[in-house]
Amino acid sequence: MPHQPPEQRITNFDEVALGYSMDMAVTEAMRCLQCKKPQCVKGCPVEVNIPDFIAALVQRDVEKAYKVIKGTNSLPAVCGRVCPQESQCEGSCILGIKAEPVAIGRLERFVADEFFHRDACDLISDKPECPLIDEEKKVACIGSGPSSLTVAGYMASRGCKVTVFEALHELGGVLVYGIPEFRLPKSKIVGKEVNALNDLQVEFKTNAVAGKTFSLQELFDQGYKSVFIGVGAGLPKFLNIPGENLSGVFSANEYLTRINLGRAYSFPDFDTPIVRGKKVTVYGGGNVAMDAARTAVRLGAESVHIVYRRTQDAMPARKEEVDHAVEEGVIMECLASPLEFKPGEDGNLGSVRLQRMELGEPDDSGRRRPVAIEGDIYELPTDLAVIAVGTRSNPVLLESEPDLKLNKWGYIEVDEETGETSMPNVFAGGDIVTGAATVILAMGAGRTAAKEMAKRLGCE
Ligand code: FAD
Repeated sequence: MPHQPPEQRITNFDEVALGYSMDMAVTEAMRCLQCKKPQCVKGCPVEVNIPDFIAALVQRDVEKAYKVIKGTNSLPAVCGRVCPQESQCEGSCILGIKAEPVAIGRLERFVADEFFHRDACDLISDKPECPLIDEEKKVACIGSGPSSLTVAGYMASRGCKVTVFEALHELGGVLVYGIPEFRLPKSKIVGKEVNALNDLQVEFKTNAVAGKTFSLQELFDQGYKSVFIGVGAGLPKFLNIPGENLSGVFSANEYLTRINLGRAYSFPDFDTPIVRGKKVTVYGGGNVAMDAARTAVRLGAESVHIVYRRTQDAMPARKEEVDHAVEEGVIMECLASPLEFKPGEDGNLGSVRLQRMELGEPDDSGRRRPVAIEGDIYELPTDLAVIAVGTRSNPVLLESEPDLKLNKWGYIEVDEETGETSMPNVFAGGDIVTGAATVILAMGAGRTAAKEMAKRLGCE
């Protein structure tokens, strides 16, 4: 798939991957073996009928391909861009045993983009085809991330009246405030998916904070028959080392939210400021760390180091994101662990002390445990540090609903088969149940819950 060259893309926030042309997509689609027992479908948490959509694409029938995907996946343009396909559908593709697996994610992205491009979304939300909405079958979704949007799409397409309550002023959850524009264009992609839900008469209420501006009981009092909680895991974890409260140290959550949602890259045109570090250090090895580092590059940093205590191969981020970061000049400071942030002459963050690590015996996860090399400590100058070492459940809703049973890590406990919580007709899914995970797993959880919610309301 063509990409913007690194030297060009580090100067803009436009999408890096440019997508297939029709001919490229068809050529790739023709590599599919159309297996009788397709392993790729098993590898997909929302069970997209991959062989069928690829077969339609080989025939250049984009509408049909789109409808096949959309049958089980509410957000194909998003998934085609951000899913870890290498460990899911593509990881299970039989061709991958001896050669390159079929680029299923790229094909999915192509189908969604091409479908929107032809402005054919009317085909799916054509008014005569829309189910009549039954105002009695009221369903509430709390949060507007991929899990809730999946529930909303599933229920609305079966004639239920869905209202989505979102704490922020924009819809989409992490897709909007976390993942940067250069990986997932907001208005072009997320906005389109949300608009398709609008066509299904889903109602969106922004600036509505469950646990503060309304309670679950109030929703039931207003006639909602069931509630889905998809509030994500947005509370950042910190390193808990000295100096972490210095000016210039950010959580990735705040850094990315200021830039993506607050448009801080256009300050003062938008009134959210952001520190534009010259020597940036980012801590962690996941997708969030890659996004923060690549964002800092685009904001003009002279150097960006990702500090990670294991090796580059062991980074949990998608390989493509790691490769893109390296291409853009991000330096992987591997086998290093931060000990202390130190102030510079102006009292703001000036440097970080790092402990050099080596790999020891495997730990419980089977990965070799990083151990400190005694006495091997060094200092790296840094005026902006971004901590991307994971998140926890946000307590705002959970603390105000004591009947919601939580597990020992503070996430909501659900029945695995139905997604129902300890409160009857209250369902949950996505990161608030699993802890920080992936878009597609959040969508899969939304689908599980929606199936049960629809069954109970008699609109399967
Ligand atoms: P979220 O997307 O977190 O959405 C939850 C929503 O609920 C938010 O909009 C929040 O404002 C709202 N909310 C919270 N509390 C309340 C309340 N009390 N009342 C009302 N609303 C509330 N996954 C991938 O698959 N691929 C990637 O490349 C990838 N990159 C990522 C990059 C970053 C920077 C981050 C942070 C995550 C990334 N992920 C990626 C993970 C993925 O985005 C999440 O797993 C997924 O978005 C979780 O979906 P969700 O529906 O559970 O919640």
